[in-house]
Amino acid sequence: MGSMHGTDLKRSPAIEGSTAKPRLDTGHLSSWIELSRSAHHGNLAFLRRCVGHGVELSAVVKSNAYGHGLELMAASAVEAGADSFCVHALDEALSLRKLGFPQDILVMGHVPLARLGEAVEHDLRLVVYNPETVDRLAQETSSKGRSVRVHLKVETGTHRQGVEGAALDGILTRLKALPRVQLEGVYTHFANIEDTTDHHYARRQMARFRAALETVERAGFAPSKRHAACSAATVLFPETHFDLVRVGISQYGFWSSKETLLSHEHSASAGPSPSEIGSLAPVLTWKTRVSQVKSVEAGAAVGYGCTFVTTRPSRIAILPIGYSDGYDRGLSSSAHVLIRGRRAQVCGRVCMNLTMVDVTDIPDVQLEDEVVLIGRQGDAEISADYLAGLTGTIHYEIVTRLAAHLPRLMVD
Ligand SMILES: *Cc1c(COP(=O)(O)O)cnc(C)c1O
Repeated sequence: MGSMHGTDLKRSPAIEGSTAKPRLDTGHLSSWIELSRSAHHGNLAFLRRCVGHGVELSAVVKSNAYGHGLELMAASAVEAGADSFCVHALDEALSLRKLGFPQDILVMGHVPLARLGEAVEHDLRLVVYNPETVDRLAQETSSKGRSVRVHLKVETGTHRQGVEGAALDGILTRLKALPRVQLEGVYTHFANIEDTTDHHYARRQMARFRAALETVERAGFAPSKRHAACSAATVLFPETHFDLVRVGISQYGFWSSKETLLSHEHSASAGPSPSEIGSLAPVLTWKTRVSQVKSVEAGAAVGYGCTFVTTRPSRIAILPIGYSDGYDRGLSSSAHVLIRGRRAQVCGRVCMNLTMVDVTDIPDVQLEDEVVLIGRQGDAEISADYLAGLTGTIHYEIVTRLAAHLPRLMVD
């Protein structure tokens, strides 16, 4: 996994004992991701202030910690006071166990029936929403003489994974007869909380969730972990916090959406004061370096398909990154990168491993100059949001598609 490439410079022997600010040695790298521990800790501190101390703060680290790198982000989250983890896949949970994380881990995605035994052995929390999984867990726990904690996912309006209302009694009756399959949690997920400033639909889902909780309690269960909130709900609606919140994107320093930020700004009463609005800071900076600089004449075609033709004598810098690294081909002839604190535009198509940018207006660009693809350089910034806008997607997709092979470095 990409996370195995994680390097924690703070713990590197070359820096230990030195009182000077650690200097990043990246001379041997052609493209890498720098992670700010202080930004990550600040974001988690903000989220902790939103929920208080009685609520379990669970760090969602699925998809290689949203592209940031599982190992470094998981370790940093624990340092910052996160209580547990949520992942999508069994293998992500097993990676965390192999790395030595003893915290509770909820696997939110489907685990193949044939692999439920592994989940039991590693004491994972498992989502359940179908009888087949419950029955197989009953077999696995009794053959191993162990128990397993399950979190029942109830359908409240997203119509993704979850038990429909009509099937709820059936699955509860089954669980009642299976003491080794312990109903620790009941949860749901909002469909329309970050895409709008109109939260009627979310309130309807909350009402359905409360009804489902009553059904569960009437059936004689007292689940200790009731949860519903993703990042947007955590920040906007204290009534969604229940016993646990599942925070993904906000932990990495992004507002879930512009609508979420707007809603937060307008809700003076709920949560932290508007002065704290600036308190989410991006954790990640994606860098590369110039691998060639060349002068071309006016009328020169640049890149595959000759889609870009210079209109003046130009200086072109070649960057050793492309769509296989997660730099989307949709950024061809549109995105900007930062070199020497100035913006340079991509010219021509983004290739698999190479991208060309126009540096005619940036004096003295040199071989191996540092280039920022996402993040800040001087006063300039290229945000994941900006790249998402150019390619018709959201910042979640921009960061989660950063290739696993890019080295990740913790820088402060
Ligand atoms: C990914 C995910 C989250 C985290 O959502 P963010 O918007 O990134 O905070 C929470 N709950 C479930 C079920 C998820 O799949």
